[in-house]
Amino acid sequence: MSEIANGTVVSFHYILTDDSGAVLDSSHGRAPMDYLHGAGNIVPGLEKQLLTHVVGDEFDAHVPPEEGYGLPQGPGPQAMPRSAFPADFELAAGMHFVAKDPEGNSIGLWIASLDEENVMVDNNHPLAGQTLHFAVKVEAIRDATPSELEHGHPHGPHDGC
Ligand code: ZN
Repeated sequence: MSEIANGTVVSFHYILTDDSGAVLDSSHGRAPMDYLHGAGNIVPGLEKQLLTHVVGDEFDAHVPPEEGYGLPQGPGPQAMPRSAFPADFELAAGMHFVAKDPEGNSIGLWIASLDEENVMVDNNHPLAGQTLHFAVKVEAIRDATPSELEHGHPHGPHDGC
């Protein structure tokens, strides 16, 4: 029986809760999550705990922030005027986008909140600093195709991105 290892594509269902037990996200009711093991497609602490599991396994993975979305750092939420965004850009809390800093480096930013004039933009993931609790069920495991290995992510039925 094949087990989860580097170079396998894994499908799993999960329920993600925080320390208080509140559900933050769940794959149930939609397609399971697919990822390529060893490619950093999912948070490191969860990837590490999936290793060697087999189809049908159900387990709880507790992931500290250092192996999840990191500890909060940097300037934190900053107000940006709505006019700084393109007019056709649909702004929503939780949205992730990539911006350039003054040196031209790409930085990942998240929209923390917004009001009529300003958008609060945070350099931290909304789940930074949180311990993540995943209830996992492994649905399928297969060997990755050569092009999936080359691209570093799973592909659909016709081996396309
Ligand atoms: Zn691809």
